Formats: sequence, C-alpha cells, structure tokens
Amino acid sequence: MISGIEPVFTNDTRAVEHLAQFCHQNDFKHITLVTDQNLYPILGKRAEQALKQDGISVRVIILHGDPVHPDDRYITKIFTQVDDTQTTFLSVGSGTLTDLTRFVALRTKSAFISMPTAPSMDGYASSGSALTLDGMKQTIISKPPIAIFADLDVLSHAPRAMISAGFGDVLGKFTALADWALGGLLWADAYSPELDSRTSAGLHKVVGLLPTLDANWEQAIKALTDSLVDVGICMALAGNSRPASGSEHSCSHYWEMKMMREGRPEVFHGTKVAYATTLIAKLYEILRGISRAQAMELLQNQQLPGAAEETRVIQQVFGPMADQVLKAQRQFLGLTQEQFLTLKERVIANWDEIQAIARRVPTSAEIVEMMRQAGLPTDPGLIHLTRQDIHEALAYGHYLRNPFTIVKLFRYMGVGFEQVAD
Ligand SMILES: [Zn+2]
Repeated sequence: MISGIEPVFTNDTRAVEHLAQFCHQNDFKHITLVTDQNLYPILGKRAEQALKQDGISVRVIILHGDPVHPDDRYITKIFTQVDDTQTTFLSVGSGTLTDLTRFVALRTKSAFISMPTAPSMDGYASSGSALTLDGMKQTIISKPPIAIFADLDVLSHAPRAMISAGFGDVLGKFTALADWALGGLLWADAYSPELDSRTSAGLHKVVGLLPTLDANWEQAIKALTDSLVDVGICMALAGNSRPASGSEHSCSHYWEMKMMREGRPEVFHGTKVAYATTLIAKLYEILRGISRAQAMELLQNQQLPGAAEETRVIQQVFGPMADQVLKAQRQFLGLTQEQFLTLKERVIANWDEIQAIARRVPTSAEIVEMMRQAGLPTDPGLIHLTRQDIHEALAYGHYLRNPFTIVKLFRYMGVGFEQVAD
C-alpha cells in the first residue's frame, strides 16, 4: 500500500475515517500528531480520537504561536517533544505545520502523513520544506507524505484570505511553467512536458471555475485542493520545484525575506506570488513584442554579464547571506564566453519556440482579473509593497534561486524591464 512514489490522496468529507483506516491497514502502532492550538479543536482532536479508538497510540504536539513560524525555533520545539519511539508523523495544519513536521519526519527516519486544513499553498505533497533558517528562507529536503487526507469540509471553511492565497499560488503556475519550458529549451534544465501538461491541466480547471466561484464554492475548493496537491506530486516526480515555481516565486521570496528582516506585517505566500505573477506576465508581454530580428540585434550587442560586478551587487544587496546566494549563482556567474555564445545561438535558433512558450502566459491584465475573482488584493499597497520593493524584487530576486527563467533570459539579452515596476 505504501509503495510507489505518488501518495494516497483523498479529498472529501471523510478524511478522519480515511486516516484511521489507512493507519490500521498499514499496522501503524504509534502516531505523532503535530498541530497548533487553533487547529487542534477543528480537526486534530477528531483525528486523535479516531486513531485511539483503533488502538493506535497517539502523541499530540500542539505548537503555540500566533502564527507559528516555519523556523529553527519551532523545529527545536518538536524535536524536544519526541523520543526514539518508532512513530509515524501526522501534521494537521496548513503550510507551516506541514513543513515543520515533514522536516522532523525525515530526520527521525519516520513516515509522514498530511491532513491539510487550508487550500493555501501547493507544498502538501512535496519533498521540500520552506523553512527560515538563520534568517534565510530555504527549501530543505524533507519527507514526502505517504498519504494526504484532505477534509473538504474543513478546507471549505478555512479563512478566506488563506483560500485566496491558494488561488494565488495556482495562478503563479502560468509563469512558473513558462519559465520551466524556457529553461528546458535554452539552459538544458531537466524539463518534463508530461508534468508541465499535468500541472497546466489543474491550473486551467481552477481558472475555469473562478468566474462562478461563490455559486460553486465546494466544487472550486475541491478543484483548488486537487490542483495544489497535484502540483506537489509533480514536484516530487520532477525532483525539484520547477513545475510550481519560477521567477514569480523568486520575487515573492525576496519580499518575504525583506519584510521579515524589517519586521513588516506578514502576507500569505500565494498572495505575494499572485501579485508577482502580474509582473512576470508583463515580462512575457514584452517578450511577445520582440521579433527574431530585434532579438538578434540585442544579442549581438550584448556582453557577458561581468562576474565581478555581479558579485559586488550580490554582496551589497544580500549582506551576510551573500555567500549562500553566490553559491546558488555559480552557474550564472561562471558562464564562459564560449557558453555565452552557445546560449545566444540557441536563443536565435529557437525564437519561434520561445514565442510559443510566451503565448501560454495570459496578459498581466488578465491575471489581475483572475486575482479579483479569487478575492486577492491587486493593489501592491494593500500587501505592503512599495515601488522600491517591486524594483528590487525584479532586479535581485532572481539571485535567490538558480533556475533559468525569463528574468535570466532578459539579463542575457540586455532587455531592460525597469518600467514594469512603475
Ligand atoms: Zn508557491
């Protein structure tokens, strides 16, 4: 039952029943249930009771905090409450609790089960945890779930802002998938057309339900949760986060780090991702307006970005985190003249394919309309972003991650896009 890379996944109103049955069938004797003080009464307690009724011993770890953060401090809190009993970890919660629990599960050689409580982000099935360690947001290898039991009733009643954020994370797939396809075409990144189509199908199903969201609430929440979970499975199958995350996520991560450093109010991941998607969609609009002849002219005049200058910028912008950022950018900074020439030739030779990829991305105005339908704020001021933040994310966000994206393409082509932020 546990074999195979894809987790068992159910998404209906009988999640607790499915959980108990699954644990019984797999002969689990001990479960460590990790949740927080708000979610324990909503779902955690029911899960605990159902397991105990089945004769399974359950240790409950309730994290306190408003909110709980996915950071070193809470990892320690979980570790100090576990011993060497062989156990299966169960997280009852949304992104943060899932990330913390599966991080600990891997490091205690335990299996991991997830019970999502909000369709707020796409990481439920993934094998990475988005954690803030030493102030730097990182994706760290963690235990993928063997099963995900989504409770549609709990998910449908999740806080509206979290649900909107989930829609936002889904909208980010428009640019993430286009970036991934560019990486496969131009940078020899491992790209899977099958996983691209699979993610894209879920995205389009969700987007199709947005205009009638209120009238089809449960159906939309089910489609949203299915899509979010499936993207996570696609990430696990791809072995990286490319089906889910591209340059829009780099911008969002940049803001996340900056806001945290400056102690500014927190904004949900998917809410920032959606706004960043409108910016990257504008870049794809610019790309669609460039002809092959113009691209050739741009590339002919373009010099290899100077590694010394880039390093100086990274050191100035990222300060104590610069070393880590430089490590992530090794391939970008270490590009030789010969490799640069090959890249230029590849861009020109594949211009039609590049244009076909760019056409998959809706216009920025279309993304804004989808955000409205999903109940997401479309004014950057409402998510505490200044014009300066937006400029910085476009200029420096791409340094945080190493994949090839439209931002890297524009850097190599010398296409300026400062006006996008205004
Ligand atoms: Zn995301």
